[in-house]
Amino acid sequence: GATIGILGGGQLGRMLSVAAARLGYRCYIYEPGAAPAADVAAARTQAPYEDPAALEAFARSVDVVTFEFENVPAEALDRIEAIVPLRPNRKALSVSQDRLTEKEFLSGLGLATAPYANVESLADLEGALKTLGCPSILKTRRLGYDGKGQVRLTDPDQAADAIAATNGAPAVLEGFVSFTSEISVIAARGLSGEISCFDPGENVHEGGILRTTTVPAPIPSRLRTDAVLLAGAILNALDYVGVLGVELFVTPTGLIVNEIAPRVHNSGHWTQNGCAVDQFEQHIRAITGWPLGDGSRHTDVTMENLIGDDMDRVPDLARDPACALHLYGKSETRPGRKMGHANRITPRSA
Ligand code: ATP
Ligand code: MG
Ligand code: MG
Repeated sequence: GATIGILGGGQLGRMLSVAAARLGYRCYIYEPGAAPAADVAAARTQAPYEDPAALEAFARSVDVVTFEFENVPAEALDRIEAIVPLRPNRKALSVSQDRLTEKEFLSGLGLATAPYANVESLADLEGALKTLGCPSILKTRRLGYDGKGQVRLTDPDQAADAIAATNGAPAVLEGFVSFTSEISVIAARGLSGEISCFDPGENVHEGGILRTTTVPAPIPSRLRTDAVLLAGAILNALDYVGVLGVELFVTPTGLIVNEIAPRVHNSGHWTQNGCAVDQFEQHIRAITGWPLGDGSRHTDVTMENLIGDDMDRVPDLARDPACALHLYGKSETRPGRKMGHANRITPRSA
């Protein structure tokens, strides 16, 4: 069988490897650091992304390369792409690596985003605060996740502190969206351009980290349709192959796109126990040219992330007959670290 190369050895790479193995593929992980995914993949390189020889050896031993981590340096991707197909493509990756580029791309498609401004200096921030007002959020353009690299401002006096807290890194200021809820759509596009979406889920965050995702999201069917259509527009515009996560704010005037992730997404973990073909298998299907699964949901699910000391609850969760556990095999528990998740299923309501 063919071998799939995965850039990044975190839990997403691990779950992609498991799904790939079920379809008869082998996985080869490229991850600079220590990583739990290595435990299930057939092979692994532990080398920096700046090591051309290691990257080229990796690329030559696989049939297609994908990623679970969107911050792979551009030069590393150049070397890989010269040897083997990269799916999804570079455009999808570069658009979502940079919050400013991402917002310009989304606005260009006619989609609503939070009001934003480019911030490269304290003067820029002070100017942006005059137009966008407070509360607002300063977000570094690159490398942020789980709310890292973000500062909330409730008063323009906090501008200098906010610049210091983000080390003066290029950033965007976003006006605060007073949303009624947050949802996401996990969408897939296959090699021949077909699209399949999973049901939107409602996301609850705590301290900037996803806490739970619940499907079905309690929103009008009109908004469900809007969410799926806008995800399709994004996939087509990027000529995308694979699974994409789209995070949305629900507001009284409609949906606002928060951000996109060019990969399987934490808010799609419910699909493992809610659908015949989950987001991980869907991604493997897409990048290897299989027909896509149809995304239908057969149960209601609440996915709960197990973060840090939540791991102490595993013995109890393991006794809950409605609960499916997915643990990532991380050796060290740290506050704020995603250690696993639990999918609690109930019969389908709607
Ligand atoms: P992820 O782990 O999802 O990649 P991230 O670090 O990229 O997170 P964001 O998705 O930008 O962070 O923001 C995290 C959360 O903060 C959002 O899900 C939302 O709850 C809140 N948030 C972000 N931007 C705004 C905004 N402009 N207005 C209101 N709330 C916001
Ligand atoms: Mg993000
Ligand atoms: Mg987010």
